[in-house]
Amino acid sequence: MKTKLQPDANGFYGEFGGAFVPEMLYPNVLELQENYLKIIQEEDFQAAFKLLLKDYVGRPTPLYFSKNLSEEFGAQIYLKREDLNHTGAHKINNAIGQVLLAKRLNKKRIIAETGAGQHGVATATACALLNMDCTIYMGEVDIERQKPNVDRMRLLGAKIQPATSGSKTLKDATNEAIRAWINDPVGTHYIIGSVVGPHPYPDLVAQFQSVISEEIKIQLKEKTGNENPDYVLACLGGGSNAIGAFYHFIDNGITQLIAIEAGGEGVNSGKTAATIALGKKGIIHGSKTYLIQTDDGQIVEPHSVSAGLDYPGIGPIHSYLHDTKKAEVVSITDEEAIKAAFDLSVKEGIIPALESAHALAYLPKMKFKSDDVVVINLSGRGDKDLETLKKFMQDEQ
Ligand SMILES: *Cc1c(COP(=O)(O)O)cnc(C)c1O
Repeated sequence: MKTKLQPDANGFYGEFGGAFVPEMLYPNVLELQENYLKIIQEEDFQAAFKLLLKDYVGRPTPLYFSKNLSEEFGAQIYLKREDLNHTGAHKINNAIGQVLLAKRLNKKRIIAETGAGQHGVATATACALLNMDCTIYMGEVDIERQKPNVDRMRLLGAKIQPATSGSKTLKDATNEAIRAWINDPVGTHYIIGSVVGPHPYPDLVAQFQSVISEEIKIQLKEKTGNENPDYVLACLGGGSNAIGAFYHFIDNGITQLIAIEAGGEGVNSGKTAATIALGKKGIIHGSKTYLIQTDDGQIVEPHSVSAGLDYPGIGPIHSYLHDTKKAEVVSITDEEAIKAAFDLSVKEGIIPALESAHALAYLPKMKFKSDDVVVINLSGRGDKDLETLKKFMQDEQ
């Protein structure tokens, strides 16, 4: 596998990344650091991974030329249809990759934490498929809020472990999952769902998701004769779908990479998840990156209408791409994203995830030449967001 964007031996991309973990967690992380590259580069591993992506997930996902959007915005606009993956988003690529890795490491049990439940569902799915014991940590409040995904995970055979401390949400679930990992470093693998966390997770997840841009290259070449687009747009939560869509275009001298973060109710409203717009450098979940924090370093509770972008940091790779100007980061508000979700539904018959709608919402703010080739990564489908979308439909009437 080509690995263009490799961190250094300590997991740094420039000054970002690393593995800032408590001493008790060190053996777990070290085992992964020492083994992950060797395993995932093995031919057998790649063959098994690629076969499941093809026959189980349904890859390659189509690269769909949108005539309607192209006419409206005056460019050649393509949608990379990650929404058509099994389970409805890109997260399954990483979940399957990590469960396969865990099996090679002789792990008996998978744990993960989840907020909105999307990563939990992808993990529970991969565990059912590959016959692994699976426990998902989830805040008690989130269990109430995200009932359909909790039911899905149970149906898939996963155990749900409620986190009852603190605010009973994602960060409390993370704490409990890490505690469980420390207690069983030999038998348990902890699956992180985005390009965040201590080294080697950002690189590991980026490599599993890089299949997205690998396919875009082949598909564009077939459709246009040229494998490099002028623009790639993707929404930015932790950054896994964005890095997957960017990976093989980084530093090619042609493609402009644009990551769209969640502005929430506005970058200066106090209710936002726009990390680059507001963030300062610090350490979150074991890596150095930009994050939203107070002057004395407390993490600020983020807000976004889309649960998948509601995170106060971004993966260290994206901090590096931003600082070195290899990618541009912009933000879109809740309202703009909702409007873009309605628009795509009506104009294309595709209901996008509210996360993906952030990327779509940036189109009207751009200036194109008519032959510009633009790829938008449609990270997931919007079925999970129907309740939210319905609320705004009533508001509009
Ligand atoms: C989780 C999720 C995201 C955000 O995560 P990234 O790691 O930034 O990709 C985006 N879109 C969808 C559909 C998601 O489920």
